[in-house]
Amino acid sequence: MGKGYMGKVLFVDLSRKSFKQEDVPDELYENFLSGYGLAARIIWERQKPGIDPLSAGAHLGFASGLLTGTGALFAGRWMVCGKSPLTGGWGDANCGGDFAPAIKQAGYDAIFFKGKSKTPVYLLVDGDRMSLEDATGLWGRDAIETEKILKEKHGKAARVACIGTGGEKMSLISGVVNAGGRIAARSGLGAVMGSKKLKALCLRGEQKVRVHDREEVIRLSRDFRRRIHRDKRVDGMLSGKLVGLMGKVMKKFKTQPAMAGELFKYTLRVWGTSGITAMSAETGDSPVKNWSGAGYVDFPVGTRSYKVSDDSVTRFEVKKYHCYSCPLGCGGICSLPGDIEETHKPEYETLCAFGALLLVDDLLSIFHINEKLNRAGIDSISCGVTIAWAIEAFERGLLTEDDTGGIRLSWGDASAVNKLVDKIIAGEGIGGLLKDGVKKAAERLGKGSDAFAIHAGGQELPMHDPRYDAGYGVAYEVEPTPGRHTIASYTYLDLMALHKKTHRMPKQSKLHGLKDRFGVEGKGRALAIQSSFTDVINGCGLCLFSISIGGDPPVAGWINASTGWNKTFDEYLEIGRRIKTLRQAFNYREGIRPGDMEMTKRARGIPPLDKGPVAGIVPEFQTLDKDYRKAMGWSPETGKPLDSTLKELGIDYLAGEIED
Ligand code: SF4
Repeated sequence: MGKGYMGKVLFVDLSRKSFKQEDVPDELYENFLSGYGLAARIIWERQKPGIDPLSAGAHLGFASGLLTGTGALFAGRWMVCGKSPLTGGWGDANCGGDFAPAIKQAGYDAIFFKGKSKTPVYLLVDGDRMSLEDATGLWGRDAIETEKILKEKHGKAARVACIGTGGEKMSLISGVVNAGGRIAARSGLGAVMGSKKLKALCLRGEQKVRVHDREEVIRLSRDFRRRIHRDKRVDGMLSGKLVGLMGKVMKKFKTQPAMAGELFKYTLRVWGTSGITAMSAETGDSPVKNWSGAGYVDFPVGTRSYKVSDDSVTRFEVKKYHCYSCPLGCGGICSLPGDIEETHKPEYETLCAFGALLLVDDLLSIFHINEKLNRAGIDSISCGVTIAWAIEAFERGLLTEDDTGGIRLSWGDASAVNKLVDKIIAGEGIGGLLKDGVKKAAERLGKGSDAFAIHAGGQELPMHDPRYDAGYGVAYEVEPTPGRHTIASYTYLDLMALHKKTHRMPKQSKLHGLKDRFGVEGKGRALAIQSSFTDVINGCGLCLFSISIGGDPPVAGWINASTGWNKTFDEYLEIGRRIKTLRQAFNYREGIRPGDMEMTKRARGIPPLDKGPVAGIVPEFQTLDKDYRKAMGWSPETGKPLDSTLKELGIDYLAGEIED
C-alpha cells in the first residue's frame, strides 16, 4: 500500500556531473506535504543564506504535488523553486501542463540541481538511467522548438520542462516552460536555470504512484466531477455580451463582483480566464494605462476591451486544453489561419498586461506577443508592466527615440509594443535596459522613474488592482513571493467560501460583506487563513481554480485517502501555515523586511486616482498587513516568525537561524 508520494528526491550536481538519490522521511511530508513545501524545507537546509541566486551554490528544485498521480482531479501543477534573483527572497513559480506527473513517474517527488555546468546540458531520466546530455545544439532554440526536438529524440512519452532564450540570457523575468508554451513564469527562476547552463529536464519514467486507498480517491473524484459538471447545459446560454453587461452593472453599483464559484466556473469552462477581461477592465479590477487610468473611461467595453476579451478570443479556439488530470479545461489551443498554426489561448493576465495596461486593443498583436514570450520563456505580466513603464517614461521625455532605437512609444500602439517585445527577448538596445524587469529598468534609467515602476519587492504586480480589491494588495506585500495574485484576495474569500469548511474563518457577513471593500475589521485575519489554504493547495499540486469553482472540492479527503493520514481540514490549514512560515523565515534569514516588499505608492492609491471605480481609494494596507502577520504568528512590524509560532508549528529548529 502506498502513500501518494514517491518518498525520494534526486540531487544533481551540475559542476561534478553527479547524481544522488535520497529517501525522504515520512515526517517531512506530514509536515510540509510536497510541492513547494517540501522544496522549501530541503532548500532551507542545504543552501547558505545570502547566496547569489545565479551562483553555483544556489539550488533549484522542480517539485510535483502531493496529490499528483493519485487519481485526484486538478492535481497537475508542478513548481520550480529556489532563491529568486528578482526579489532576493524565496522564489517559486507554478505551472500546469503535463510535467508534474512526469516527475513522479521518474520515481521522485522533486529533483534539485546545484552547481554549474561549463557547457549547456539537459537532464535525461529514462527509466532507471539518468544522464546529463549535451545541449549545445539546443542552446539558442526557443522553448517550443526545444521540447519538440527532445520529444523527437526521446519519444513522444518524454515530458520536457525547459528554458527559452530568456532564461539563457539570464533575464530576471524569465521562467520555465512545458507543454508547448505553458510557463512557470514568476520569480525569475528561468535565469537561475540559465546560469547553470541547464537547458531542460527530459523525463521518461513509468513508475506508478501508489496510494493508500485508490478506490476512495477515485470515488471522491467521481463525486466532485459530477458536482461541478451537473449544470453544463448553462454553458450554451452564456455569451460575451452577458459578461460585458455584468461588468457594467458592477461598475454602476461599485460592487465587488459577486463571483460565486459557480459563475466563475461557467466563465472558465466557456472562455477560460479570457472571459473576465472586459468585465475586469470595466469594474476596476484591471490596472489601466500603467495604473493611472480607468477602464470604463480609457478602455471601455463598448469600443475597446471587448476586442481582447471572451468571445473575441475564443473565436480562434480550435480545441479545449486540459492540464493533466483536469476535468474543466480552461485552456485552449488556438489557430490563426495563415498566421500562427497553433498557439495557447492567452490568459487574462496577458490580455490585460498587453491590453488595458497599455491601452492596446489589437488582439492579433497580443496573440503574437503571447506566442513570442512563451517561446522565449518570459513572464508576460512582468514584460507588460515593464513596457507600460517604458511608455510612460517616453511620454515624460525620460526616454527618447535615441534610447529606443527609433521606436516611438505611445499608449495603444501595438506595433511599437511588438517591436519592444522583440528587443526585450533579444536583450539588445533598449531591450538591455528592460530585460530584467521594471525595478531594474527604473534603477538603470534613474531620473525619478521608480515612482511609476509598479512592483512589490522587485516583482511586477499582476493584473488585479489592489485599490479595487485590497485583499490582493495584502498578498502582494506580505506573501513570501511578493506580487502574487494566486494567494489571497477578497475575491478568493468570496469564491472559496472557506467559512463553510472551518469555524476559524468568520462568515462573510461578519466581515461586513465583501461589498465593504475598504473596511479593515477582521479582514487581515481572514486573508491569512485563506492564504494558508493556498499553501496546502500548492503543496498538493492542485490548481487554484479547483477550489474557486464551487462544488466543495474534497481536499482533505483526497489527501487522507492518498496518504492514509486522518487529518481534519483545520489540521491541513495548520500545515499550510507551517509551509508559509518556513518560506517567510527564508526571507527573514535573507534580510528581507516588510518595507522591502511594499508596493509602489501608485498601486497603494498614493496619490488616489481621480476617475473611475477606484477614484479616491486609499486602502489601509498598513493595518491590513499587520493584522495578517499577526494572524500568521509573525511580528506585525518586522515579519519575523515569533518563537512561540515556530514552537506551535513544530519548527522551532528554525529559530536559531533567524536571529536579528
Ligand atoms: S482549470 Fe485550467 S489551469 Fe487549472 S488545471 Fe484545468 S486547464 Fe489547467
